[in-house]
Amino acid sequence: MRKMSDWGNYPVIDAEVFGFETPEELKTRLGSLDKVIAYGNGRSYGDASLQENMLLTRRFNKLLSFDETTGELCCQAGVMLSEILEVFVPRGWFLPVTPGTKLITVGGAIAADVHGKNHHKEGAFGQHIISMDVMRNDGSIVTCSPLENADFFNLTVGGMGLAGVILHATFRLHPIETAYIREETIRAANLAEIMDCFEASDDWTYSVAWIDCLAKGDAMGRSIMMRGEHARAAELVQHFRKGAPLNLKPGLKLGVPVTFPNFALNKLTMNAFNFAYYNKCRPGTHTRVCDYNSFFYPLDAIANWNRIYGTRGFTQYQFVIPKAAGREGMGTILSRITESGLGSFLAVLKLFGEQQSFMSFPMAGYTLALDFPISLKALELFKELDAMVADFGGRLYLAKDSRMDAEMFSKTYPNADEFKQAITMLNEGAPKFESLQSKRIGITE
Ligand SMILES: Cc1cc2nc3c(=O)[nH]c(=O)nc-3n(C[C@H](O)[C@H](O)[C@H](O)COP(=O)(O)OP(=O)(O)OC[C@H]3O[C@@H](n4cnc5c(N)ncnc54)[C@H](O)[C@@H]3O)c2cc1C
Repeated sequence: MRKMSDWGNYPVIDAEVFGFETPEELKTRLGSLDKVIAYGNGRSYGDASLQENMLLTRRFNKLLSFDETTGELCCQAGVMLSEILEVFVPRGWFLPVTPGTKLITVGGAIAADVHGKNHHKEGAFGQHIISMDVMRNDGSIVTCSPLENADFFNLTVGGMGLAGVILHATFRLHPIETAYIREETIRAANLAEIMDCFEASDDWTYSVAWIDCLAKGDAMGRSIMMRGEHARAAELVQHFRKGAPLNLKPGLKLGVPVTFPNFALNKLTMNAFNFAYYNKCRPGTHTRVCDYNSFFYPLDAIANWNRIYGTRGFTQYQFVIPKAAGREGMGTILSRITESGLGSFLAVLKLFGEQQSFMSFPMAGYTLALDFPISLKALELFKELDAMVADFGGRLYLAKDSRMDAEMFSKTYPNADEFKQAITMLNEGAPKFESLQSKRIGITE
């Protein structure tokens, strides 16, 4: 037995863990266990990859083939995005979609159908899958794609590991000239300004905003937008890396050596941080060229930053509401959050583009993600926020969730019932793949 948790350290459970290096080993293991769930790198926040028997995929991590002309990569599902970047950025290729951490596996990226700062241009990760192999409950392997076994493909992308264990995936990397990003930062004084800014940033490949969820009144929603493009080689002319545009200097890695005491983060420390961060960016628009790690993965530079939230752990409340409800809805929900004073400093706002998929989280609209240290008050607040999100036609992101109830899930995910039926049928009534989350939200019982 090992203590296991996902990134929020809430919940922490005792589990039996099993690794595998070949499909045959996995098949044997599946045959010997009643219920299991795949665990990639535990970067979902709640309990989506937790249960008493967990299949660790990280040792199943080989790059299998790469086509230099098309950028088509085939790899095992335990490969991390960071490993792909390490090998392929120096050769001039980048991920089609990346979330705010590169420390996730390809399996986790597909199962949660992760989104990045380019969702409005490129959709989510699943949209880039050309084909994949998935092991089902009986050990058989299904090859699926949007054209082949499409129904099964749709249950796997965004299906949170409940259809089977993803073994291999093929997807296309995008060509880049440099390892750098031309970034523009813009300070917005309130929610209306940042929403205008998103509307005006549609042409940019990447856009995201950090938002101060503690600011009230006229300043509610004050934000800093970061938008970016992959820098062309010619844009590095003045730059120190112009001789080797695809290589980065090794970065300094900081760490949080111990779990903070529960009182360390309070309203005062969070207010001070938010004030300083907002005011560090002067009014107006600023341009710089920065390496891709600073633009996409600033938090990865601080190992174990999740420890700052103390032993009780934390959760990230991430919701999306449709664009039409965006201005009114985001204003209403944000004012309830600021009034509570419970939000912390890591809040991210993004405008998603259209997405057609069976179970995935994104929809055309605004998404807000913010961290909360676990407390009774926070859990009560979430109930209120759930009702507002549902009323505005929105939903919560399963990859960040550790506490949503079954009613909220079935009310807000339009295909929830169909998904549940399909998963029950695939398992012939007795679910093999089950997580604490899938039980809690009523997909597997
Ligand atoms: C700092 C930070 C920033 C983040 N930013 C974003 C963001 O911008 N956008 C975004 O979308 N997400 C974001 N996330 C969430 C993260 O990208 C997802 O939760 C992702 O699924 C984690 O992948 P993982 O490999 O760690 O998988 P885990 O967390 O271990 O598992 C996640 C889910 O995938 C399933 N799974 C894993 N491997 C397999 C497999 N081989 N076969 C079948 N199922 C499998 C698990 O069962 C589970 O349901 C962020 C997380 C962190 C910590």
